[in-house]
Amino acid sequence: MLHDSHGRTFEYLRLSITEICNFSCTYCLPDGYRKKPGPGFLQLDEIARLARAFADLGTWKIRITGGEPSVRRDFTKIIETLSQTPGVRRLATTTNGYRLKEHAQSWRTAGLQAINVSVDSFRPDIFHAVTGHDRLDEVKAGIEACLEADYEAVKVNAVLLKGINDNDLGAFLDFVRHRPVSMRFIELMRTGDNAEYFTRYHVPASVVSDALERDGWVRKTRTPGAGPAVEYIHGDYVGSIGLIAPYAKDFCKSCNRLRVSALGKLHLCLFAELGMDLRPLLQSDDQLDELKFFLGRSMHSKVVSHFLDDGVTGGNHRFADIGG
Ligand code: SAM
Ligand code: SF4
Repeated sequence: MLHDSHGRTFEYLRLSITEICNFSCTYCLPDGYRKKPGPGFLQLDEIARLARAFADLGTWKIRITGGEPSVRRDFTKIIETLSQTPGVRRLATTTNGYRLKEHAQSWRTAGLQAINVSVDSFRPDIFHAVTGHDRLDEVKAGIEACLEADYEAVKVNAVLLKGINDNDLGAFLDFVRHRPVSMRFIELMRTGDNAEYFTRYHVPASVVSDALERDGWVRKTRTPGAGPAVEYIHGDYVGSIGLIAPYAKDFCKSCNRLRVSALGKLHLCLFAELGMDLRPLLQSDDQLDELKFFLGRSMHSKVVSHFLDDGVTGGNHRFADIGG
């Protein structure tokens, strides 16, 4: 099992497979994706070796992210490869949902078990203003397709934005009243590129937790391998709520995740300064032991906190690069 010097163990890998995205969310890629010179993104064989090494070291949950993971033509093949890796018991992805309606079933059949779909507003004009795309109906149809395809977990992610969607709480709650969907509210995080935006639009997660508690929502206890969200349930709702509050005291104490970027860099934290290049160790099946040794040793460099409160953003210019 991978563990660090602060008593934390790591069983959850967030793997980015591309930096490319077709959306231009105002807090992430306001000018859209611009191609950068340099090496291409991890290939299928490199992804397979990486997953094998992590799974051998006790990682049982992998989330495929990006950029937009579904822009890759071999996305279904990547799902198949990861889901067939011995030891991987939970395979999830986070997507903007633009290909979901047509692919929900084939991804499920390929082995995808859980899905998070980003929807920052259920009002079409606000959805368009945030993402740059008029595709809310398609994305909603994609969520329904996931429910029909019997995913083990369907979640909707919304980043809280002052004056944009912070008054939409009622609409978000209505969406989960009769659907077995978990609505995740994510507190906007400051990155290297969005400092001004952050100052203008950041909403503390406590605004939502206070409203939920006033409304009778009850906090659930954390399950093993769970992500960073604090979960809430309510007797009148089929669905649930998750709140991701990275600025909360002790957020890093329960950290159980590691990240690998689409370029094959290991990031011990979303806000770590430097990624460690794994790619030279992903070139042949014979390198498995060396890769596992490198991963085990790297854990001791993991720092105790992201120090976001001190304005630290590390090497994270935007989430599309490392994978949110
Ligand atoms: N393209 C996919 C999507 O949007 O779901 C996957 C990648 S995206 C980077 C993953 C998640 O990170 C999304 O839910 C997005 O809203 C969130 N995100 C991006 N930038 C963020 C920021 N600065 N603060 C908080 N969440 C952010
Ligand atoms: Fe693309 Fe996701 Fe970033 Fe939006 S949040 S620009 S969909 S990577």
